Amino acid sequence: MRLLRSAACTPERLDRNIIGKRLLRPPAEQEFTPLWLQKRGRPYRGSRVRGKKMRYAETGFNLEVDLTRGNIERVETDPRDTELYLGGLGTSAKILWERVPPETEPFSPDNLLIFSAGLLCGTPAIGCNRTIVSTISPQTLLMAFSMMGGFWAPELKYAGYDKVILRGKSPNLVYLWINNDKVEIRDASHLKGKGSVETAELIRQELKEPNAQVAAIGLAGESKVYFASIEQGRSSASRGGIGAVMGDKGLKAIAVRGTKDINVAQPVEFMALCNEVMKYIKFRNENPIPGVMPILAGLGSPQEMKVHDEKWHTENFMWGNSRVRRKDFWNDEVAKQWAQTLDSMRTRLISCYNCPMTCGATISPPGLPTYMMKCFSKLTYTMAAFADLEFGLGIAQSATEYGVDAFSAPQVMAFALELYENGILTDDDFPGMPSDNEGRFYWLLDRIVRRDGIGDVLANGTYWAAKQIGKGAEAYAHNNIKKHEQLPLKLSMLNPIYFLMYATGEKMNITQIEGQFPQAPFPTREEREAFVKDWFQVPDEKFKQYFLDWEPRGEKSMPYYPTVDMCCDIVDWQERMHYIDDALGMCSGLSSFPLKPPYHIHNYPKFISAGAGIDMDETKLTQATKRYRTLVRAYNIRRGMRRKDDKPPENHWKKRFPELEKELLDAYYTLKGWNDQGIPTKESLHELGLDYVWEDFEKRGIYSNNEGTPSEETSPETGKK
Ligand code: SF4
Repeated sequence: MRLLRSAACTPERLDRNIIGKRLLRPPAEQEFTPLWLQKRGRPYRGSRVRGKKMRYAETGFNLEVDLTRGNIERVETDPRDTELYLGGLGTSAKILWERVPPETEPFSPDNLLIFSAGLLCGTPAIGCNRTIVSTISPQTLLMAFSMMGGFWAPELKYAGYDKVILRGKSPNLVYLWINNDKVEIRDASHLKGKGSVETAELIRQELKEPNAQVAAIGLAGESKVYFASIEQGRSSASRGGIGAVMGDKGLKAIAVRGTKDINVAQPVEFMALCNEVMKYIKFRNENPIPGVMPILAGLGSPQEMKVHDEKWHTENFMWGNSRVRRKDFWNDEVAKQWAQTLDSMRTRLISCYNCPMTCGATISPPGLPTYMMKCFSKLTYTMAAFADLEFGLGIAQSATEYGVDAFSAPQVMAFALELYENGILTDDDFPGMPSDNEGRFYWLLDRIVRRDGIGDVLANGTYWAAKQIGKGAEAYAHNNIKKHEQLPLKLSMLNPIYFLMYATGEKMNITQIEGQFPQAPFPTREEREAFVKDWFQVPDEKFKQYFLDWEPRGEKSMPYYPTVDMCCDIVDWQERMHYIDDALGMCSGLSSFPLKPPYHIHNYPKFISAGAGIDMDETKLTQATKRYRTLVRAYNIRRGMRRKDDKPPENHWKKRFPELEKELLDAYYTLKGWNDQGIPTKESLHELGLDYVWEDFEKRGIYSNNEGTPSEETSPETGKK
């Protein structure tokens, strides 16, 4: 069955569409039967899988593109891999493990860039629209897996593919045009230097295909900026510098148009599950969680484009280069100004494919083209430059066209200015730079995306730039984990749950730290009791007790409560949900990120069974998730990551507790089946059916080389070759 791409989905409209006429278009409601749906879900004109197992939810085919040779192949995949690793991130991790050895440099032609639709993308599962892009990151030198929402992944499924796997490098700038069975590599020399949104529009015009979904890089990707993004729809895959790998491969964009159908195994059951989710979303929209800040009270990605009150975010984060908290920033005057600016420039609230949440917005700054704002970009540039919202919404337009990560870019620019203020960089490094902050940000952004002058150094991110600059610059690159700029958030007291999420996380995005367990205790027992009453999403009743007993002060407060074991349980649960989303293609704003979401460990197995036809229950799903989560870990271990890399920035919290942190890490490693260096043990690998990983570790002497290889061996210079 196939959903039509629709422009604006309100809950009412979506619900009407799903249960009845518009999206599925059965001839009449009484004919909305499995037989009708199976007829609609014909696979490849009925000819492709004679004598083989029918594929549900996935297409069963990947597109393999060798950009060096210009070769394109449609390759059937092994359904057993789907059962073991699900899809999306899970199967992409397996492909990277098998085909990209650890010696591979990010900018080697042998590095793969994999665009993957999640397993349930293209089915009617609400909010299931994520594209997972995986490769070796030029910034961290580890595996990056960055997600984008929007519309691309479902379109790829409708074109008949689960993944696009790119290898090699094109000698000239090209783009890929996937039009159902017809796939072409086309010249993109006329698109050189064009913005990512502009490129998408030009490609649609050139192809005369207004419905093509286009994922494109801007100038930053072409220049191999280490925090270059891939932009698409209202979304982007930003973390880990994956846009730089796309630029290195000489690939400007991938345009896709698909008009085929996707099969689901048990359509009636599947639709009933979707309707339940929709009903719950409506309920939550009408009943936000009391006692928590507005963006946590509802569902969806942080709904920054809806809210006007930014007191909490602006005053509690240390923006810029994470040095200064603007404690009294928010006042009536600012509130009025920001509300006026947002209301005058925000032209429409918009959603990703098949989602009613409208957490993005179109922004039309005066004199600039309209663009689509992603959550949080609203604040990152504004606050980093100590400017007003008008500036932030304006520069975000340029940044989107250039294609840069909105968390890293402002921090890199603030880092450069901090070095300048402290005499490490001088006027000679900034010839012609304006004297005002806003002008400086525009000036720096422009130099970075062109790799011009000091911009060439800054384009490598704060970690590598500091090394290249020397003269004590490293002390200013203080907000990195695994060489990557993190959220500009600094707090006072260590939060043990977030410590573990940050330290052991390999996702490199905001959602790596947040999950379904509340961020802080509620003030009174009564409030906590009210919260746990309808908390059916918990995987185990014990989590309710953990929360009930959690006090803001006293014996049962942070950092020693939740206890070490409880923290490990909570983090394991939160991480599991993130990894399930990343395999299924689900937006974390409806599953792993918010409190009490519509998707959870109890209904996910049913979605997989009814959708993909895989016999799934909670235990099997937990095991499958553990398998590919461990494979991601193993992949990075093979590239030299060890315990020394599992640490949040030193100054992330003012009050640190080294002994407790050690205890937390030790206990979490044990729970995960990793040794004291964070390396998965032989026993745990065997239990997950990953003996091939263990054999590889043995061959490479990884267990005896416990400390790992120094991950600094690959410098930006070698990377650039
Ligand atoms: S919740 Fe927001 S970010 Fe997530 S799919 Fe829906 S509109 Fe997109």
